Amino acid sequence: MTLTPTRAILTDAVAAGWGVGAFNVLHLETAEALAAAAEATRLPVILQISENAIRYHGGFEPIARATLAVAEASSAAIAVHLDHAEDAALALLAIDHGFGSVMYDGAKLDFADNVATTRRVVGHAASAGVLVEAELGEIGGKDGAHAPGVRTDPDEAAQFVAETGVGALAVAVGSSHAMTERVAALDLGLVARIRAAVPETVPLVLHGSSGVADETIVAGIRAGLTKINVSTHLNARFTGAIRRFLDEHPGVVDSRKYLSAGRDAIESEAARLLRLFAGKDTNG
Ligand SMILES: [Zn+2]
Repeated sequence: MTLTPTRAILTDAVAAGWGVGAFNVLHLETAEALAAAAEATRLPVILQISENAIRYHGGFEPIARATLAVAEASSAAIAVHLDHAEDAALALLAIDHGFGSVMYDGAKLDFADNVATTRRVVGHAASAGVLVEAELGEIGGKDGAHAPGVRTDPDEAAQFVAETGVGALAVAVGSSHAMTERVAALDLGLVARIRAAVPETVPLVLHGSSGVADETIVAGIRAGLTKINVSTHLNARFTGAIRRFLDEHPGVVDSRKYLSAGRDAIESEAARLLRLFAGKDTNG
């Protein structure tokens, strides 16, 4: 399939009433596991790299090019997305490197500044056919700086989309980043009101889905969410599998042995989530 534009994956998902998994790539093994999950399920996936992950790797190119290469080599439909770029220059860099979409996160700015900077990124992206995701009504938990409880206002969402021309909108509807227990409730009525207020060509994005239980995510998709961002939940599977492997094999030295245990754990759980979001059989 090679690299697939994010817009194509999301447009198909909206038409089908599906959710699509957008999973964070932290290192090469994550990208490999997520591509394998997409191949096993024959479902599309969005691989996303956050500004935090780029900082961890000490720069944009190594992790970005590795992830693009994994997507290009896969037989599945895979898009590569830049997640949570607060630096507009980084969003422009990703656009120029062939990412299918970028999230410019101006949620900490006031409404007018968020609109102005987002428009600039959208303008640059448009000529490359790249979709821009933006966030309105800050989603809790990022960097621990903001308490959950903020909500996106449907009328403001409609105005923001009209003024910026963004192609996808991250909404604050009850989830919060970096939760390790899946106990968050979603305001499904608000999801439906935002969905009704914003043009159907603009998919809604759920951030912080790691803290939301399976059935609540499914209900959210039915209410109008399309792109489902998951990071912490898969990271916990990766780390848990490695911890178990090392406990059971205290003499192991070859790092590939335990990293592959983590990679396998991400693959199976990502495959399960892709099927769940797409409304397919969740067995296996
Ligand atoms: Zn997020």
